[in-house]
This record gives sequence, C-alpha cells and structure tokens, in this order.
Amino acid sequence: MRLISANALKVIERLQGAGFAAYLVGGCIRDLLLGVRPKDFDVATSATPDEIRDLFRNARLIGRRFRLAHVRFGREIIEVATFRGSGNGDSGEEGRVVERGRLTRDNVFGSEAEDAWRRDFTINALMYDPATETIRDHVDGYEDVRERRLRLIGDPRTRYREDPVRLLRAVRFMVKLDLTMEPDTAGPIVAMAPLLEGIPPARLFDEILKLFMTGHAWPTYQALVREALWPQLFPGLFENPAEPPKLVENALLNTDQRGAEGLPVTPGFLFAAFLWHRVHAAAEAMVEEGMPPVDALAAAGEEAIVAQARKVALHRRFSTIAKEIWFMQPRFRKRRGKRALRLINERRFRAAYDFLLLRVYEEPELAELAQWWTDVQEIDPEDQAKRVQAAPREDGVKRRRRRPRRRKAAGAT
Ligand code: ATP
Ligand code: MG
Repeated sequence: MRLISANALKVIERLQGAGFAAYLVGGCIRDLLLGVRPKDFDVATSATPDEIRDLFRNARLIGRRFRLAHVRFGREIIEVATFRGSGNGDSGEEGRVVERGRLTRDNVFGSEAEDAWRRDFTINALMYDPATETIRDHVDGYEDVRERRLRLIGDPRTRYREDPVRLLRAVRFMVKLDLTMEPDTAGPIVAMAPLLEGIPPARLFDEILKLFMTGHAWPTYQALVREALWPQLFPGLFENPAEPPKLVENALLNTDQRGAEGLPVTPGFLFAAFLWHRVHAAAEAMVEEGMPPVDALAAAGEEAIVAQARKVALHRRFSTIAKEIWFMQPRFRKRRGKRALRLINERRFRAAYDFLLLRVYEEPELAELAQWWTDVQEIDPEDQAKRVQAAPREDGVKRRRRRPRRRKAAGAT
C-alpha cells in the first residue's frame, strides 16, 4: 500500500478528523491488491457533498446524475463521494430512479455497506482504511481478488438490466486484469447483449475509449466478439467478426504496441481502421460512376461516420482525424513534385502513412509505394526535393480501370 497517493491520505485524514467515516474505495484498492499501479484514487465517505465542500477549500461539486466532490491538488484530483444506498423501499424518494429495470438516477445516500453493495463487481467494492490499515469487505471481494475472479454483486441478470454498460465492464476488467469470470456473471452476457441498444451513444464512446485505448485492444476485441457485444457497438462492419480484416487486427495490435512503447495513440486511427472497408467499398462504387477518388472518399467517409455515430458517438476531433487519414490515401499515389512534399509536411501525414502501411497487409500491390514513402521521410529535405522530381508521374500502382475523366489540378489544400 506504499503506492497510495499522499493527497488521498490527506483527504481521508481530514474527513476522519472531522468525525466522518472515510475510506479509499473501488478500482484503486483492487489494483493495489493485484499489483497494478492505480490510475486514480477515490474516497467514499459518510460526509455529504456540502459537508465535503465545507471541509476543503480546494473542493468542487460536480455531477447531476451522481453528485460528488473533486478535491484538487495541483494536477491530481481526488474524487470524494458520499456513501450511496440502494434506496430499496423508499417510496417517494426521488434520488434513485429505476425505469423498467434501468437505473437512471442514483443519488440516495446510504450506509457504508449499502455503498459497497450498489457497486458492480465484488473486486470493485473493497474499501481500505489507512488509519487502521484494514480492508473493509462487505461483499466477499477480497477472496475474489485472491482467486482472480470477476463476480457481479447480487443477481447478475438484475444488475446487467439495471445498467447494461456493466456487460462491457465485465469484459474490460476480465481482459485488462486477466481475471476469470465467475459462471453466473459470464453466463447471461451473450443473451443480454442487445440491452446495449438503449445506452446513449456518448456513454458508449466513453466506454470504448477504456476498452480500446488502455493497452489491451486486441484481446478485448476478441472477447467482445465472443460475448456477442461487438455487433452491438459496431453493427454490420465485418462479415465474420471472429476473423476481422487483417488491417483491423493489425490496427488493434499496433495500438497496443504503441501504448506499450509510450507512443501516442488516438481513437481516430482505430475508427479509421474499423470503418475503412465500408468506406473503401462505397467510395470505389462512386468512382465507378465517375466521381473523382478524393470526392468519393469524402462522401463515403462522411456517410460511414454518420451511420456509426447512431451507435457510438465519436467526438468530432476524432472523426476529423479518421477522415484526414482516409482522404490522404489517394494522395499517396501522387509522389511527383511539390504535392508530395506538401503531403509530407501535413499534420496528419504520419498517421495516414501508418495507415498506408496497414493497408499493405491486404493490398500487397501497395508495398512498393509504401516503401517509397518510408524512404523519402528518412532523407533530408534537399534530397527529398530531388527524390520527388525523379518519382514516377502517375501512381505506379496498377489500376483495374481507366479513369473516366481527368481530375483538375488539386487546388484546395
Ligand atoms: P478503472 O481503473 O478502469 O478506472 P474503476 O474500477 O476505477 O476502474 P470507474 O469507472 O473509475 O472504474 O468507477 C469507479 C468505481 O465506481 C468502480 O470501482 C465501481 O465500484 C463503481 N462503478 C463504476 N461504474 C459502475 C457501474 N456501472 N455500476 C456500479 N458501480 C460502478
Ligand atoms: Mg477509476
């Protein structure tokens, strides 16, 4: 427990000193017990949000669905939440609202034990009291951590129905922490997967970030497919999701690899890969009808993003990255002259080039082109200018059809 944040300890000390119960809770305790460095430290307390605010000058109350306090220390934020209850039988209580089995608001204060029970998995419900150095376990979570077992608290079907995002969280924790799902927790997932239809696209996007951007993208993808959850998030993308296109598999593996090397990763790149085949096919069809390739890609890309956004809301800054990556693909074929130099210096060049490398797995005829772009980046600017002068005029990649009409010179950059 040496890894515990000093600021979190300060917060707990202050709360306990004022006579409140206060413990570290949730993911941080689970991670510490599993030997993982916690991302952040959450505190649960008997103090109400107003009482928390009165105790800390650096506290700010946030949240509507779930009011809690953020206590800020420089760049670190300690999240402090009042114990929540289940609200069972409190008729007339408007803090907790269950609609057709779905929990839509959750603001009823409760006891420490109730707060543990309303959490999702037993391993996420452990509390730790730094004053006495003891674990407080109301749900037999400690044993589950020891056994590396993922188990929902209470009746799994009821808990999944209350909040179907728990279906995704189950897969995420299983993969990320290398846990075994207890059979009653694993059993209902496939059948209940369609419940995700009711989840707002913005919330699904937040969850997708955690699923794919935290170092386990490829095994997480495979588990999502096995549990029938993938088609709920990205319907109709691949003929057989169990064997996704090579480009997609490699994009997922790349994301993990880059993460492990501390290189930046963006969900824009991953979305570009997920949707690529749909966009590519639609664009090809438009080109057959005489549309210039760049325009066709723009139209097809826009369409694919709008369609996907009905399920998972991709923030504009990420969809923009995906589009920039796609739209640069045809431009790689033009390697002669100033245009090529301009491309190299564009902001999204690197990501688009990485994407071109991925495409080579499926379109080996692009290998020579990709290699040319690899080489040209490595030489200094003067040589680059010579290199692009000597480059083949057209793309050098065999095309199946004649171009129906000549493109005007690219003016807009
Ligand atoms: P991570 O390390 O990925 O952040 P975490 O366990 O901290 O994992 P959070 O989403 O940050 O996950 O949530 C913090 C805690 O809140 C969880 O440990 C869990 O106790 C509780 N919690 C979060 N989401 C839910 C949910 N959908 N249903 C019930 N309890 C939840
Ligand atoms: Mg957390």
